[in-house]
Amino acid sequence: MNDLQKKIKSRLQAAQHVLITSHVRPDGDAIGSSLALALALLDAGKQVQVVLSDGIPASFKYLPGTEIIRTKADGEFDLIISVDCSDLKRVGDALNAYHAPDIVIDHHVTTEAFGILNLIEPEAVATASVLTRHMKEWGLAITAPMAANLITGLVTDTLGFRTSNTTPEVLRQAADLMELGADLSTFYYRSLVQRTFVEAKYWGAGLSSLECADGVIWATLTLADRKASGYNGKDDADLINIVSSIDGAEIAIMFVEQSVEKTKVSWRALKPNIDVSQVALRFGGGGHKAASGAELSGNLVEVRERVLAATREILN
Ligand code: 5GP
Ligand code: MN
Repeated sequence: MNDLQKKIKSRLQAAQHVLITSHVRPDGDAIGSSLALALALLDAGKQVQVVLSDGIPASFKYLPGTEIIRTKADGEFDLIISVDCSDLKRVGDALNAYHAPDIVIDHHVTTEAFGILNLIEPEAVATASVLTRHMKEWGLAITAPMAANLITGLVTDTLGFRTSNTTPEVLRQAADLMELGADLSTFYYRSLVQRTFVEAKYWGAGLSSLECADGVIWATLTLADRKASGYNGKDDADLINIVSSIDGAEIAIMFVEQSVEKTKVSWRALKPNIDVSQVALRFGGGGHKAASGAELSGNLVEVRERVLAATREILN
């Protein structure tokens, strides 16, 4: 075990009251990683709070352990851990009144080392993969409920083992998690395939806005689309995955209106040699070479123009 692993293990073992947090608009990896680690620390006899600023989307409520997720921390903690989150700002309000994380566990290329101990493995497909790799050496045994959460993180961040960073190790990890009791087909279907009627209506609004020019394909979701469809998440309900599967462009972008002055942008590189994290970083966001995001100040129309212009630049 290297020095960092030894230090993480000793902090985990010594802790009594642990706060685990992750990023705003949490996805399958953020939730799955937070819960897997929380359940393991609960099994080890510690008190644990999982605090996600935006709470948990209805679409992930079936995961084991979600009842422990809250939107505000309460009490004192001798260990604060951030998982799947690339910077402190992206934690949202979860750590207001608390100190910065003691341990950061992540897999984003753009991650700032904002913890005291920073376990950042950018080649890992998911934070759930980083945890699956290391939990045993930290003395944390993976049970079936943890395996369900971890396999959900692997499945969602690899879009069902089809992103170009999927390695034999990931498939072996998934196999190990299945042997530990995770029902792959159920968690795959529920996290990646199954959609509600409302989400499908919301997608319809986004798809009807689709445009393609100069190597970029993009779609827009407005607050009015959210209202009309009845969708109450703040995100695109993963519509970006559909937009990215359309042939004929090099980069896909999703614009989601958050308010009159805030717009969420998601980029996906559709060719292996394109790095969209650079353009996301320029706008204060981050992520991976192939998948990045940012929340920009400015109204939808103005942000869309700025982002399309900057994105076209990286194609030239
Ligand atoms: P998405 O576009 O699906 O929200 O996110 C794609 C990737 O970019 C994810 O790995 C996500 O964590 C990262 N990402 C999305 N939005 C932001 C942001 O505002 N800041 C940073 N640093 N990363 C982001
Ligand atoms: Mn992730």
